[in-house]
Amino acid sequence: MLSQVVELIENKQKFGITTHIKPDGDGVGSSLGLCWLLRSLGKQAEVVVRGDIPPAYRSLPGASDIRDVEKIDTEYDAVFVIECSDLERPGIAGLDREFTVNIDHHATSEHFGTVNWIDSTASAVGEMIYNLVKAIGGRVTKEIAECVYMALVTDTGSFHFSNTTERTLKVASELIKAGAKPAEISEAVYNNYPWSRIELMRQVISTVRRDASGKVAFMRQTLKMREEAGAIDGDNNGFVNIPLAARDILATVYMREVGDNVYRVSLRSKGDINVARVAEQFGGGGHRNAAGLTIEGDWDEKEQEIVASVRQAVEEAEAVWAGDITVSPDVL
Ligand code: 5GP
Ligand code: MN
Repeated sequence: MLSQVVELIENKQKFGITTHIKPDGDGVGSSLGLCWLLRSLGKQAEVVVRGDIPPAYRSLPGASDIRDVEKIDTEYDAVFVIECSDLERPGIAGLDREFTVNIDHHATSEHFGTVNWIDSTASAVGEMIYNLVKAIGGRVTKEIAECVYMALVTDTGSFHFSNTTERTLKVASELIKAGAKPAEISEAVYNNYPWSRIELMRQVISTVRRDASGKVAFMRQTLKMREEAGAIDGDNNGFVNIPLAARDILATVYMREVGDNVYRVSLRSKGDINVARVAEQFGGGGHRNAAGLTIEGDWDEKEQEIVASVRQAVEEAEAVWAGDITVSPDVL
């Protein structure tokens, strides 16, 4: 919990910070925000990530100093692991021998850390980093503000997903006061793609279909599409949300071929429809309205199974709305 994190920062000197491979804005922004906080407290800190940092986040202060490592190659007093469901997600060897601090806002986290601070009410880990700055009596510097704002804006879909709370906007307001520039950060994220994104989008959208209920949309991305578009990682960011623009679509399934009969699946839903539970049924996880999983097998068969399961989640939510069954609000 937060008080343990404050205490260990006060008692230790040298920190590593990492996040998952192919990090998103929350992973990069929160890691860098924490790094700037630790340095402002007179500590030694660095961010290490396996693989490349997506272009959208490379303009953040400190991003060019992030080291690409395959294993822990430095002695740290503790390593912060940001936004990871388990200790394998960073793809860095040797983490199991470290004093690790798991900071996450996913309720499905495995509590793998030596210390675990999980706050599923936070819109992004970035919101938790802001809380940490306050709890430790630090100052929100311009660098911290820019990095943490990036975390908030990406994880909330520019403050329109259901994880956006009064607190999120209050924190965002403080970050702007401290020097974050919303237009510049949004421009770096949303209007900064290569043309290959548009080529890939054209192909993926051409596969979109609805199930018999007309409420679940599903679409596919093949390896060939990626190749033909000349796509790079991140070009497909947000594709899964596109069908939700239709009023009657309540949930989406987006399957991408990543290997021989292996697919990454993203699920999204509106309102009370819980796709995290669907993802968990297939060995994945996530949040109520945004979840994911990896699956192997015949494409048509697996697609049907997942779409049917999502359809059931839609029906369960509709039954509650209709008052057919009663479920206490905290279960939803
Ligand atoms: P995305 O669809 O963007 O890959 O993932 C949406 C959400 O689901 C994210 O919050 C992510 O953490 C979670 N998620 C995606 N894939 C997996 C998975 O394989 N396992 C778990 N536990 N969570 C996942
Ligand atoms: Mn996040």
